[in-house]
Amino acid sequence: MTNRQPLVAANWKMNGSLASIRLLLDGILKGIQSETKPEVVVCPPYIYIDEVARNLDNTQVLLGAQNVSQHEAGAYTGEIAAGMLKDYKCVYVIVGHSERRALYCETDAMVADKFARVVESGLKPILCVGETLNEREADETEEVIARQLDAVIERAGVQGFANAVIAYEPVWAIGTGRTATPEQAQEVHAFIRLRLARHDEAIADGLRILYGGSVKADNANELFNMADIDGGLIGGASLNADDFLSICRAAI
Ligand code: PEP
Repeated sequence: MTNRQPLVAANWKMNGSLASIRLLLDGILKGIQSETKPEVVVCPPYIYIDEVARNLDNTQVLLGAQNVSQHEAGAYTGEIAAGMLKDYKCVYVIVGHSERRALYCETDAMVADKFARVVESGLKPILCVGETLNEREADETEEVIARQLDAVIERAGVQGFANAVIAYEPVWAIGTGRTATPEQAQEVHAFIRLRLARHDEAIADGLRILYGGSVKADNANELFNMADIDGGLIGGASLNADDFLSICRAAI
């Protein structure tokens, strides 16, 4: 079995100010030890990407974006292209976060286009998938995850996942304080890996699948210990340097 390097990514969403982002980043950079095992990624609001990028030079922390346009360039007011993110040394881009799907009406097809654009640009997508509470209670979790994944596989091919990351984020666990149990999360992670393995076993084996949804310093360890959980996508707890660093240390 492939030895997958864990990854812990901070999604700061639309939080902070220039001053608070500087403080948060400083705290994280001071606390990251050279022996820290996981790959660590921070995804600031777009407007602070330049500031964060300049401070990440010669550190082991990588830069990510929270979203991207599916278009290469043109008359798309308010949008940001993948090529622009590359100018700022972005490495990862979150696509299909449930807040984008629910609040900005991003469909499976749009998410698949964004994923393909990110891959074509040489950036690495972090593809978010996850079911709502209603869908879980109706026993539709696997159906929903399969639909979200298949849309991307059809658009980008399984090869598109060679450098990609998937984040399983049950919508009912995001920002709610309600976390999936390690067993619940592992079940879906294994399902995701198997779905990819139907197309390419080696890609599925090497694919990092993160868990996201109210991960905290005190529950990270038991989640990250599961066989198919390769780290986390962290929202609320990534806004506190000490909490985020504890979560990074839990990913071994
Ligand atoms: C997220 O929004 O990706 C997330 C996981 O948020 P939180 O950790 O706050 O639940």
